[in-house]
Amino acid sequence: MVQKVEKIWLDGKFVPWDQANVHVLTHTLHYGLAVFEGIRCYLCLDGRSAVFRLREHVDRLFDSAQIGDLKIPFSKKEILEACKETLRVNKLKEGYIRPLAFIGEGVMGVYPGDNPVRVAIATWSWGAYLGEGAIEKGIRVKVSSYTRHHVNVMMTKAKISGNYVNSVLAKREVMKMGYDEALMLDTEGYVSEASGENIFMVKNGVLKTTPLTSILPGITRDSVIQIAKAKKMMLVEERFTRDELYTAHEAFFTGTAAELTPIREVDDRIIGEGRPGPVTKDLQAAFFEIVRGKNLDYREWLDYL
Ligand code: PMP
Repeated sequence: MVQKVEKIWLDGKFVPWDQANVHVLTHTLHYGLAVFEGIRCYLCLDGRSAVFRLREHVDRLFDSAQIGDLKIPFSKKEILEACKETLRVNKLKEGYIRPLAFIGEGVMGVYPGDNPVRVAIATWSWGAYLGEGAIEKGIRVKVSSYTRHHVNVMMTKAKISGNYVNSVLAKREVMKMGYDEALMLDTEGYVSEASGENIFMVKNGVLKTTPLTSILPGITRDSVIQIAKAKKMMLVEERFTRDELYTAHEAFFTGTAAELTPIREVDDRIIGEGRPGPVTKDLQAAFFEIVRGKNLDYREWLDYL
């Protein structure tokens, strides 16, 4: 259960958590066109709180809106400030932030007419997204029978709510079989992304991640790429197949919620030694140092409250 906090920002005002409700004829509830973000704020070592790459998340929210043809009735600056204010108002030193722009009530056909675009920003505490011990020990992954969206069926570069039906179906399918996360292949059969994460594999010291062509441009993915490059690791953005992944020496997922989660099994094949490998551990340690304000080289990624 999500841990309730005091207030939610709704259309420019703070309302009590229990009163942040919408009508059942909210257009988005029926047809799925809304755009959202997932952002994390970390408690840093100096006792201050910092939102990780907030500007990039707000930019992606507006990019998603542009792709979905939604006009967010606030400026980027207003949304950015509101994200921080929502944490402050709720006295959260650390937590997850969820901005959501959706189509409100009015007409009921698929064509949304002049229905208002509404915006909510909620925040709550969120620990290890893929379960206890996931970050330390790694997780068991299954390739889903559901294919990831074709680029001309859904807009894969946008964080559009309706896109996530595919993720929910895939995640449910593999959870029922006892796995921790679903990996999806693209319409041509290449590895794409997980229900809410991007993927990296390591073989003979070379890091490989899927190109951005038909996946969500993950901000954690971008952070890991930049960290790996600064560490002079070899990295390619290239398509790969599930059998190539089976023989990887290491693999991991990246995502705001999942952070950097090692993969210890794919389709019942043990990856490497079946525990986080040296490259994964090195990148993971660097990532957590950065988000907690320990590495000043990445100071511009932190937006202090
Ligand atoms: N792919 C999908 C489908 C996602 O939902 C997410 C989570 N936003 C990601 C990748 C990772 O993106 P990010 O690192 O920006 O959270």
